[in-house]
Amino acid sequence: MIVLPIYNVIALPDTTIYYKGERYVKFTGREPVLGEEITLMVSKTDIDRVYPKADDFYPIGLRGIIREIGNNGYIAIDIKERVNIEEVKLDPEEHYRAKVSKRGEIEDLDPESVAGRLKAIKAEIIRASEGYEWSSLMRTYIVQWNTIEELAGVYSLWMVNANDEKYMTLTIDSKKERFDLLEKMLYESLEITKVKNQASTAQEQDYKKLYRESAIKKQMEYLQKELDDMHPENLSDIRSFEIKLQKSEMNEEARKEGEKVLNRLKSEGQHSAETGMLMDYLDLLTSLPWKKEPAERISLEEAEKVLNRDHAGLKKVKKRIIEQIAVMNLKGSQNGSILLFVGAPGTGKTSIGQSIADALLRKYVRISLGGVRDEADIRGHRRTYIGSMPGRIIDGINKCGVSNPVMVLDEVDKLSQSYNGDPASALLEVLDPEQNVNFTDHYLNVPYDLSDVLFICTANTVETIPEPLLNRMEVIEFRGYTPIEKVEIAKKHLLPKSMESVGLNKKQLSITVKAIDKIIGEYTRESGVRGLKKRIDSICRGAAVRISKDPETKVSVNDKNLEDILDMNPVHQKRVKRSAEPGIVTGLAWTQAGGDILYIETMFIKGEGKIIITGQLGDVMKESAQIAVSLVKSFFPDKADMFKENDLHIHVPDGATPKDGPSAGITLTTALASLVRGKSLPPNIAMTGEVSLQGTVNPIGGLMEKLMAAHRAGVKKVFIPEENLMDLKDVATEVKDNIEIVTVKKVKELLKELQIL
Ligand code: ADP
Repeated sequence: MIVLPIYNVIALPDTTIYYKGERYVKFTGREPVLGEEITLMVSKTDIDRVYPKADDFYPIGLRGIIREIGNNGYIAIDIKERVNIEEVKLDPEEHYRAKVSKRGEIEDLDPESVAGRLKAIKAEIIRASEGYEWSSLMRTYIVQWNTIEELAGVYSLWMVNANDEKYMTLTIDSKKERFDLLEKMLYESLEITKVKNQASTAQEQDYKKLYRESAIKKQMEYLQKELDDMHPENLSDIRSFEIKLQKSEMNEEARKEGEKVLNRLKSEGQHSAETGMLMDYLDLLTSLPWKKEPAERISLEEAEKVLNRDHAGLKKVKKRIIEQIAVMNLKGSQNGSILLFVGAPGTGKTSIGQSIADALLRKYVRISLGGVRDEADIRGHRRTYIGSMPGRIIDGINKCGVSNPVMVLDEVDKLSQSYNGDPASALLEVLDPEQNVNFTDHYLNVPYDLSDVLFICTANTVETIPEPLLNRMEVIEFRGYTPIEKVEIAKKHLLPKSMESVGLNKKQLSITVKAIDKIIGEYTRESGVRGLKKRIDSICRGAAVRISKDPETKVSVNDKNLEDILDMNPVHQKRVKRSAEPGIVTGLAWTQAGGDILYIETMFIKGEGKIIITGQLGDVMKESAQIAVSLVKSFFPDKADMFKENDLHIHVPDGATPKDGPSAGITLTTALASLVRGKSLPPNIAMTGEVSLQGTVNPIGGLMEKLMAAHRAGVKKVFIPEENLMDLKDVATEVKDNIEIVTVKKVKELLKELQIL
């Protein structure tokens, strides 16, 4: 019989062995023939040479018959019985031939008695195969194998036992003993694989878990992408952030930060406490306008038209804005000097910001800084804080959605310092062209370029604005409006806008100029037009109600029915007093709401030379009073006794309102002089000026507002410091025409002119 060598397998009768066709050809020198009888001999070493020696083999072999020549490269050999190898010899074509004799079996195994044990082994093999890809295949095969020989035959490929141990199974004649040995070998090798697996599993478990996890996540991401592409309308959050990040034109630093946060979001999963925060951040980062807008060339004529369309008057302001636009056009830049609009409320500072944006064809965003105490309001909180937010600047940019808006920073004079850092210095960074290219909001944590933003600041006064901040800005004053200007604004702007907003047309509502005059004169007391706007709005609302009840109604408002229609009492107007008394003089004050008139009242009462000051005067004003006393004493040496025998009481009415500043010096001195001389002054004469101990009159601030207030109150003549002469050019002609303005250098001159000295 032809010989085929086998090695390191368990092959026993009544099983099938699959032999590699190639190997068959190699050892026999020809193709296999179906039904051919062959001898399988176990070689002692893994022979791979064509001419082994006879004693390379063990003495017991197997007789088999080729049952099938598979097209998968294997031939199936059914093993019939064990044989003793009697003789091995080379045939003339130098192939093996063996002479064999049958070797009997001892049939001492009762299959019934070992059925349970067989089942147990099968179960164990299945368990061992779990987790492998082929485990289900194994399961389908294993049910077909009914003998331990079959099991061992297949399993022997994975058995760790040596070749000679496996050969041992061939030498046992008793089927029972063979079963015991095979069973033991199977269990042993199963156990060894298990331990081996466990050891490596323990090591690998951690890695495996990680790999598994990331593999699953990758798969999920992939699937999610597929799903998203199918249903773009309901993208998952993570996916939509991913897309947004890809599409956004943000800088590299921002992209890196975004990816970092996105990865964190992915690893945190949907239900972590941090998820919300991370999503908020990504939301901001991806929706911020990162794209640079090109600088547009603006037609100056068009810009002027827009500015004139929305605001009456304000000539100087408009001129300055046009200049700014011209410079921007020339330089091809989107910003220029930072303008600071200073003036009383309602003078149009904020609303002209909107017009500037319109004129520049850019977006407008307004940020109120009133009451901002914390640096974080400007620059944001670090993300480690719970409830942290971006600062107002980045928030504003995000809201308007472009990188080059006109940004109005309202009320920069109301910034205050606190223990939480200095918001003014943060603002400085925002405005500084050197630094704002890389403005870093703490929350955003990556630089954002603010250099294309056109900043405009507004304030009621420059006094409370920190020097370094003020130095960055160009101050443009918004003076209050005269009554004539107010009528103009009301007719051309406030009324048409208000009517439009409630849906009234010209036929349905008319207001006479006299009525507007009356509103200005009796129902408002202001430099700006806010109160006027409110009154007009209220008239329009009232008319709208009446017209909606009866569409045929025509509402006409005149100075007679105004009080009924407004349904409010006239505002108390500060008009100059009618009667004159010694010791009482009209002064002019500057307030946040514009200008106002005030009275200085002085009086002697029996006493011992004390000075009593009331009316909530600040330190500077109290010192002015002391100076006034000293000056008057020196001007009137003969009246020295009056100061000794009396107490002097100085009072400034509106006792509840705190007042301060040096500009009442001239008024205090004049009032005292008038008291000492017992000579009264006409109340429609007013004055303003700081006085030095030498009696020199020094310049003061807020002249425009003060003169405007004097005009409103009916003052006819005003004395001002000579050094303020320059400021007069900005004062409305209407005011200048109605008030005689006299400049003074020394108080003495004034007192002489007033015929007190
Ligand atoms: P401010 O910022 O100085 O307090 P606003 O800009 O809020 O004042 O102005 C208040 C209102 O008065 C706005 O409705 C504005 O349109 C109107 N207004 C102010 N000045 C003018 C003006 N010169 N022409 C037309 N409307 C004006």
